[in-house]
Amino acid sequence: MARYIGPTCKLCRREGVKLFLEGERCYTKKCAVERRAYAPGQHGQGRSKATEYALHLREKQKVRRIYGVLEAQFIRYFEYADAKKGVTGEILMQTLERRLDNVVYRLGFARSRSEARQLVRHGHILVNGKKTDIPSYLVEEGEVIAVRAESKNQPMFQGLQEFLSKYKAPVWLELDVENLQGKVDHLPARSEIDVDVQEHLIVEFY
Ligand code: SF4
Repeated sequence: MARYIGPTCKLCRREGVKLFLEGERCYTKKCAVERRAYAPGQHGQGRSKATEYALHLREKQKVRRIYGVLEAQFIRYFEYADAKKGVTGEILMQTLERRLDNVVYRLGFARSRSEARQLVRHGHILVNGKKTDIPSYLVEEGEVIAVRAESKNQPMFQGLQEFLSKYKAPVWLELDVENLQGKVDHLPARSEIDVDVQEHLIVEFY
């Protein structure tokens, strides 16, 4: 599956908000949004007032970039949400949140969604005891997501238990620090998804 490989901090500056794409760096003064709070490019500091269309477009781009999803796949998520009963924007957000790479990130096993995607791709993650290397896999209620036993001694997981002992996972996930695993207690309601976007603007955009 294709993914964006350009400079990530530029994406945050383009959206004018911190999207937390770079892990620990996002919480330091090195964050590009903190240092240069204007859009990238020659005209970044002189952009005029956004149109209605631009507001809708930017909200859609923001969500896409937060979850690291390309346009074609995002449209498929939207179509899936639109076909379901319920509030389309909320179902869209829930679907994105159910992605395996996002769940690995939310459980605290990785410091960013892109790092989580790498862990999944490289086969370090199990779902219900079975190796699952598809970042877009959508988790279901009751499923258990774990770090593979053979991977636990690898450098990227060193110090993870100590970090997790102070980490608070979202309420819809049950984190088991000792076993480096987490269970999907229930699928997340919109109020349990800590992403500051107005999804109704995305629905109106499409
Ligand atoms: Fe965005 Fe993080 Fe880069 Fe800051 S450091 S601009 S939050 S990706």
